[in-house]
Amino acid sequence: MTETVYTFGGSSKATDARAKDKTIVGGKGANLAEMAEIGLPVPPGFTLTTEECLRYLDQGGEFPESLRHDVTSALGHIEETVGKRLGDKEDPLLVSVRSGAAISMPGMMDTVLNLGLNDETVEGLAAIAGDDRFAWDSYRRFIQMYSDVVLGVDHGLFEEALEIAKEDNGFYNDTEMSAEDWRVLVGEYKRIVEEEQDAPFPQDVTEQLWGAIRAVFDSWDSERAKIYRRLNDIPHDMGTAVNVQAMVFGNMGDTSATGVAFTRDPSTGERAYYGEWLVNAQGEDVVAGIRTPQYLTKDARERAGAKPLSMEEAMPDAYGELARVFDLLEKHYRDMQDIEFTVERGKLFLLQTRNGKRTAKAALKMAVEMVGEGLIDETTAIRRIDPMALDQLLHPTLDPNAKRDVMTAGLPASPGAASGKIALDADTAEQWAARGESVILVRVETSPEDIHGMHAAQGILTARGGMTSHAAVVARGMGRPCVSGASQVSIDREGRTLRIGSRDLAEGDIITVDGSNGQVMGGEVATIEPELDGDFGVIMEWADRHRRMRVRTNAETPDDCRRARQFGAEGIGLCRTEHMFFDAGRISAVRQMILAEDERGRREALGKLLPEQRSDFREIFEVMVGLPCTIRFLDPPLHEFLPHKDEEFADLAEATGTSVANLRRRAQELHEFNPMLGHRGCRLGITYPEIYEMQARAVFEAACDVAEASGEAPVPEIMIPLVATRRELALLRELVERIAEEVFEARGRRIEYLVGTMIELPRAALMAGEIAREARFFSFGTNDLTQTTLGVSRDDAGGFLATYVDKGIFPRDPFVSLDIDGVGQLVELAAERGRETREDIKLGICGEHGGDPASIAFCEATGLDYVSASPYRVPIARLAAAQAALNQGEVREG
Ligand code: PEP
Ligand code: MG
Repeated sequence: MTETVYTFGGSSKATDARAKDKTIVGGKGANLAEMAEIGLPVPPGFTLTTEECLRYLDQGGEFPESLRHDVTSALGHIEETVGKRLGDKEDPLLVSVRSGAAISMPGMMDTVLNLGLNDETVEGLAAIAGDDRFAWDSYRRFIQMYSDVVLGVDHGLFEEALEIAKEDNGFYNDTEMSAEDWRVLVGEYKRIVEEEQDAPFPQDVTEQLWGAIRAVFDSWDSERAKIYRRLNDIPHDMGTAVNVQAMVFGNMGDTSATGVAFTRDPSTGERAYYGEWLVNAQGEDVVAGIRTPQYLTKDARERAGAKPLSMEEAMPDAYGELARVFDLLEKHYRDMQDIEFTVERGKLFLLQTRNGKRTAKAALKMAVEMVGEGLIDETTAIRRIDPMALDQLLHPTLDPNAKRDVMTAGLPASPGAASGKIALDADTAEQWAARGESVILVRVETSPEDIHGMHAAQGILTARGGMTSHAAVVARGMGRPCVSGASQVSIDREGRTLRIGSRDLAEGDIITVDGSNGQVMGGEVATIEPELDGDFGVIMEWADRHRRMRVRTNAETPDDCRRARQFGAEGIGLCRTEHMFFDAGRISAVRQMILAEDERGRREALGKLLPEQRSDFREIFEVMVGLPCTIRFLDPPLHEFLPHKDEEFADLAEATGTSVANLRRRAQELHEFNPMLGHRGCRLGITYPEIYEMQARAVFEAACDVAEASGEAPVPEIMIPLVATRRELALLRELVERIAEEVFEARGRRIEYLVGTMIELPRAALMAGEIAREARFFSFGTNDLTQTTLGVSRDDAGGFLATYVDKGIFPRDPFVSLDIDGVGQLVELAAERGRETREDIKLGICGEHGGDPASIAFCEATGLDYVSASPYRVPIARLAAAQAALNQGEVREG
């Protein structure tokens, strides 16, 4: 029979592996059991399993049958160990009831302290402790917490009553309240409860206990917990455990205290004890900010120039014991610990330990130093760092100490933060930036023609669009902070004004966007610059030693390529050539090409584009010399390049000598109802081969130029997009080879190159065996492959995907983290069939998933040769690839 409740402390022995399994007893429960077992002073208690929570929620809030009995006997364990009984009038046991999920969700769920107090037991507690004030203070704390957490009475009402009581007495601090003052306040608290819920505060201690357990179970499904899980990719089906533990008291006078401590500094990673404590207080006083906590160590106090004594100075014995425990715990868990402790009349107790949360900078420093100290090995260090956290290091971030005036929030689409003047269109953004001003481009949504404005802007904010909307993808690629899908932003384009949340603003006003958490703030918020110090380099070097897959980048400008190389990119996995078409100096020739009535007209316009495109490629090849460069030929539907505004039509008419009416008719002809499934990708190359011919010529001429100048040739890999059939690729491969031969003949030199395709349509995946006859490589375009497999538009999914994730239909946004069960099958199948035809076919991924750690793990398991990610994601991909290789190695071995 599996247990529903596990006891710890006292004579309990954790014989069952489940008693220390975080998924069963939660992180807190597992660590309490483990600490008790290594002999640390832990008050006895018991843990209700996460399974019982799920069963309770499943049964619509009914406790499972056997649970009542099991809890009663576990309570007996506590009573026996401490020699007190819950509800005993003479010498009552008090307990804490706290949540504890498998993955910690700080502050998200509920806690009740001092449970077991009522009008009778409070007298017993006072007598036994010999301290009336302590007993009545504990009782009023209990009423306040229980009423807030279990009964749903607004805690503000109690705080107000306390303030009034202090004012009436002329007190400033809680510590000035006497036993009698607390007793009077308890009467007032009970009156508030009765008035708010039409029933007296529960006096039955068993009812109190079950009420608290119920509240903790229910808190798993609270709105704030759900949002926290969504933001942190924590599954919704894990449930929380409940820990019931004998209370120890930090508020028993001046020899008692409570505090929280870290074994190393969680923001810098320095090897120094770090923490806060308060004399004569209970846990919530430290975190609630009612009293200002004191420093733990003398050194920290002196550095801060603070007066109140540190724990090291005020309670040297208890502090000495604490320091001993710190070392023991670090050695036991081999990681930095975050500890809650209480000192009751001079004796130290531990209430919790867990691996401490830390900034990315601290994570790197600790990992490197712990390897040096022999606490962990290199592979543990690599595994321990959350690759996504590296993002914090690569972009400027908001100063954590700066004040934030948050107006609304959207999706954290591209990390980093920026402040600047609101610009409502790309041209304005560009003009203002050219004047040296910092701008935030604010659009309903962005389209490719906004690229120059996005590039000029310091940050981007859009009202619509999801995590892989155009704005998000492009912003991440450029390393611009971006908040997308901020639905509380409405723009009046005519009036050049906008509303953000409840605030009315105008173009030119200053705002700040934080692309790391989606916040949009009024005014400027100070930022701090990234520092890529030694620890970062060390971890990256270790990661490179352990990974199998190569890491390339998605980049199309020389700047992006240079940055990606600094971050360690080993080539280009995707150069989206269309981005070069939008350049202000070329768009007119591009439009002329699109609007041309016949091939001759198109060729004439393409002739103007050839030298431009050739020089683009030359610059990129120079940066990437010797490395593979995947150049993807034109992909988007042509209408995306067309003019929209009247004056743009007029300009174009003048430049081409056609009438505006003619141009509008042609634009109308190009209109598509479903452009993502329309005339795009290789379909353009099939219908207008001259476009791909020009691109092929530009690539090979540029490659010859670079080879001549530097003596080292780049390795172009020509990639044909949106292929569905072998014949499409066969025709276009022939075209590329023909142009290559022409160029090589003319230049008198040959360049090594490959022709391959993207696999981004389900049919292409299914027919991969056939398609591989024409392709030297496959690159999985998982953005389109996800869109076409799921039948979900990548540009419109923002409106409903969050609901889908909340309801557990998708574990995560499938455009962010690959749908391994579904889309993943197509990738595996295509990889397998491709290899069957061509043993040495090169396999990579260039969709956004190439920068997502979970998807990278899948790529490793599938045996891809490389992943390609936007420049700022390259270090993330390097680390994630190393972790994947280490895990995969373990899978193979064991
Ligand atoms: C893809 O579809 O995954 C891809 C990389 O191409 P794009 O995002 O340009 O459509
Ligand atoms: Mg695509």
